[in-house]
Amino acid sequence: MCYKMFQQQFQPRHQHEHLRTRLMTVLVVMTLAPLVLGTLISLVTSISLSQYEVHRDQTHNALTISNLLESQWQATLTDLRTTSAIMGQLPQPDQRLTLIQQACPACMAIGWVTSDGVVQWNKAPVESAALDQAARAVLASGTEQLGSDITIVDQTTTIFIGIPVRSANAIQGALIVLLDLQRLGRPVLTDVQLAHQGYSYVVDAEGRLIMATSAQPPLLQDLQTLPVIAAARAGRGWEPPNSYAYNGLLQPRVVGVAQPMHSTGWYVVTEAPLAIANADTWYLFGLQGLLLIGTGAAAIVLSVRLAATITRPLERLQQSATQLQQGRWTKPLVVRRNDEVGQLATTFNAMAQELQLERTALVARSEELLFANQELQRSLELAHAANTLKSQFMATMSHELRTPLTAILGFAEMLEIGMYGELGDEQLTVTNRIYSNGQHLLALINDVLDFSKLEAGKVELYEESIALNDFLATVVSTCTPQAAAKNLKLLYHSDDTLPDLIHSDPRRLRQVLLNLISNALKFTTSGSVSLHIHRRTHDAMQYQTAARQATADDQWQIEVIDTGIGIAAEHQAVIFDEFRQIDGSYARRGSGSGLGLAITQRLVTLMGGTIAVTSIIGQGSTFTVTLPLKQEPVASDQQGTVPC
Ligand code: ADP
Repeated sequence: MCYKMFQQQFQPRHQHEHLRTRLMTVLVVMTLAPLVLGTLISLVTSISLSQYEVHRDQTHNALTISNLLESQWQATLTDLRTTSAIMGQLPQPDQRLTLIQQACPACMAIGWVTSDGVVQWNKAPVESAALDQAARAVLASGTEQLGSDITIVDQTTTIFIGIPVRSANAIQGALIVLLDLQRLGRPVLTDVQLAHQGYSYVVDAEGRLIMATSAQPPLLQDLQTLPVIAAARAGRGWEPPNSYAYNGLLQPRVVGVAQPMHSTGWYVVTEAPLAIANADTWYLFGLQGLLLIGTGAAAIVLSVRLAATITRPLERLQQSATQLQQGRWTKPLVVRRNDEVGQLATTFNAMAQELQLERTALVARSEELLFANQELQRSLELAHAANTLKSQFMATMSHELRTPLTAILGFAEMLEIGMYGELGDEQLTVTNRIYSNGQHLLALINDVLDFSKLEAGKVELYEESIALNDFLATVVSTCTPQAAAKNLKLLYHSDDTLPDLIHSDPRRLRQVLLNLISNALKFTTSGSVSLHIHRRTHDAMQYQTAARQATADDQWQIEVIDTGIGIAAEHQAVIFDEFRQIDGSYARRGSGSGLGLAITQRLVTLMGGTIAVTSIIGQGSTFTVTLPLKQEPVASDQQGTVPC
């Protein structure tokens, strides 16, 4: 169940799964880590305590056995001494041996040495010759003798004891016994119940096995290498670095203790198997393991739930945010919590509603703009159509007006020259007025017609070779009467870097020049109007050495400079607009259609050039026309001044 749950939780459905996974991992680790650690510590502690407990029990057991054996040994010696004192008074040797046998059941063989060195045994022991010698040594020394060596007789360990028997300070004989150590010690070793299924045995001072409850190990086996025995013989308790366990006499992995018997120099050893000692610990560990698994499973389930509780609102928030981003957000997010997440959801809902309202307003506004744009487009198309119609109308009207006007002018001219009889002074004056007003009207109509044609894109250029100086002289001479009428100087200067022949449309070039010169004359009351023609350059030397050959990028400039009323800076930008006349100006008061500069600019543009103005009020204006220079091969220098 846990696995399935985890599998579901860990499957990466979307971005928030990572957060949930991380959260779950942290929670599970935080819960399980202390549990596992605690269990391990408890196990290690428990094992160590359990070994210590077994060791303590074994120490107690060894001490008890040692005390009992000590008593047994002392009692046997005392019995032998007491009996030996009595037995000297018994006349018969058999009586004496019987007495001893009753007093010492563990005595395997009992002998009596008479004062003359005759040895009598109750039963003949093995190697009796050696024992007889030892017995005589007791008689000779007159002191108690304890056999220095423990030997095996009849498959049991035995020790020789000799006690001299005195009578009135004279040695009467000696009691000698061969004591069966197994018979002496085994009851004690067997009787003392050892905890933890332990067993005990006794080794002599050299570490050889001399008493054992089991018949398994061979008696007198050398056990001095066993750690506990080695430690005891060296005079210290055995304190292993990590564990009390070692391979014992009867079982592997035992906890043992060696307790010295001070009167004999022997050691009582008790041993108990470590596995039995640890049984409780493993049982405890099993229980703890089960508890750990149960707790772990519960921790995982709780962690998964807790992680889901934390991340689910965030996931829903994220889904809602995605819907909002894609414009699919329809209903508010419901999070029934009063904590930060709940507040976040409330804030998000408010923000989303606001955004939704703004989005709706934006969509409406965008539709409005789209509609307005379409309307504008329609209006623009209508305006274009109207403009075309207007141009066509103006062109037609101008054309239609010109025909009768030309006739009127013709009649006025015929009247003037007297084709219909001599006119009186007053009649001549009126006829002159008719003629000059007609001329003015014709000029206006021509302007309108030109402008309309230019607007409609119907003006074409007819370029040809122009002898520049002759051409300019003719144009200037046309204006001479106008300049003379106002007593103004009309100056003309042509640069020697320009070729004699250029390619241009003479009619349109003349129109541009006449417009600019006549405007200059019109808005100048005193001083002069100058016409400067030159190649456009920043380096005059270049053209002098270049044999006056033009390249495709070469340009030339016409400057019309006057000393007239000037044009205010704010008006300079608008004077090229059609029908634009500056209010209150001299020109407004004078004649003019407001089309002159508009036509001039369009013509210059048509010729591939530009026009610009610089002016200072009260000092004069300079109109500069820049045109591409289309050069003819023949060239000659010309400079002249045409008086107005
Ligand atoms: P108009 O036929 O009225 O002269 P233009 O288009 O030729 O119309 O000129 C537009 C206006 O520019 C004029 O009315 C005048 O106010 C101004 N203007 C043109 N040339 C000059 C000039 N040389 N000096 C001062 N003002 C000028």
